[in-house]
Amino acid sequence: MKVLKFGGTSVGSIEGIRNVKSISCSGTGKKLLVLSAMSGVTNELVRITELIAADDETSIDMILGLLEIKHFQVIEELIENKLLRYETKNEISAILSELKKTTKREYSEVIYSLVVTAGERMLTRIFSAYLEDCGVANHLLDARDFMQVNNLENPDTTLVGHKFKETVSSLTETDIYITQGFVRIDENNRVNTLKRGGSDYTATILGAALDAQEVQIWTDIDGFHNNDPRYVEHTHPIAELSFEEAAELAYFGAKILHPQTVSPVIHKNIPVYLKNTFTPFLPGTKISAEATGKGLKAISAKDGITAIKIKSNRMLMAHGFLRKIFEVFDRHQTAIDMITTSEIAISLTIDDNRNLVKIIEEIDDYGEITVEKNHSIICLVGESVIKDKKASSIFELLHDTSIRMISYGGSNNNISLLVDTSNKISVLQKLHQKVFEAKPVEEFV
Ligand code: ASP
Ligand code: MG
Repeated sequence: MKVLKFGGTSVGSIEGIRNVKSISCSGTGKKLLVLSAMSGVTNELVRITELIAADDETSIDMILGLLEIKHFQVIEELIENKLLRYETKNEISAILSELKKTTKREYSEVIYSLVVTAGERMLTRIFSAYLEDCGVANHLLDARDFMQVNNLENPDTTLVGHKFKETVSSLTETDIYITQGFVRIDENNRVNTLKRGGSDYTATILGAALDAQEVQIWTDIDGFHNNDPRYVEHTHPIAELSFEEAAELAYFGAKILHPQTVSPVIHKNIPVYLKNTFTPFLPGTKISAEATGKGLKAISAKDGITAIKIKSNRMLMAHGFLRKIFEVFDRHQTAIDMITTSEIAISLTIDDNRNLVKIIEEIDDYGEITVEKNHSIICLVGESVIKDKKASSIFELLHDTSIRMISYGGSNNNISLLVDTSNKISVLQKLHQKVFEAKPVEEFV
């Protein structure tokens, strides 16, 4: 079995959906297709959840109407058989009217989840009918029957595998299964999500659950680039990455992958391929345990970082100070990304400000606190990057750029810089020039 996940942009247009079909039908063997909602749809659904809170029924109806038009247009274009077209439209209307009823119930986390995951339900319905219309046998599976993910950080993939096998056991043999990304059943047996962008995670959870041969993640970019192509010219896709390198890049801002994507498949050593639906002939990026090449491979940036400095004379020659500080963050379930210390101060960063006020209130007792928002972590990633001579050019940046923190040596694979977000693009560009454009990347190793 191979697991193929197609993202919102892949299924966001008629051209994309046709490509998804030809990719799904090429080659032999069983395939499980994990599909996102059409691009833009989940954002509209999130908007509906906000409108429920604001009790704005007129705007909700308007969005539901637009969603119906959008999906009906796709059905019109793709499905030729009149009866199938009619039936598929009815099914989309049924999902939308169920959604309308949901919006009238008392708002809760479950209502949120039911609403925002409807895009996947609609698109998978249409895609299954489209394949059927083309004479391609397939089974559409409801992910809620087997995506039992009680613990978001550490999914029980054996349980998911069990439930999946149970779900398909009563079905006739087929090569193509289709299911929804993003949705899960949580520890309370309620519908929940894998967080925004979570369909990638669905794919690798299922990959591990089914001991898949490989997982393919299809987007509209031809793999992980060595820098952010939105801000830097002349970036290029990286042919191979190790699981650890990919995890660092995804966590530190590379938008192509949901940050948790690779974790379920690492122990099972299942390779993950990142490919472009619109240029399927290009190799993309292979993420596996066998990735070759040492040294700096890529640079990425993560925004929305807050730096917190705690300055205290009590730290001088004292022990146990850091423990007390870290316990506060732990109590408020806030992860710390970067840390630097001096004898009487510690600076650290967080990317989740939800409990910032409470945290500050508590650490205020330990010293003088400074909080700086709107920062970005720029991350240089590659196996043994700290031994890569080119990486030393990060220090040349200090001539003319203000760098708030540097984390070097925390791991062999990562060097992180904290900069004000207003300087992010220029730092990405300068670094790119210094480390990638001076010589081809292979020569650094
Ligand atoms: N449709 C969901 C989102 O936009 C999940 C996904 O596409 O990965 O976040
Ligand atoms: Mg995505």
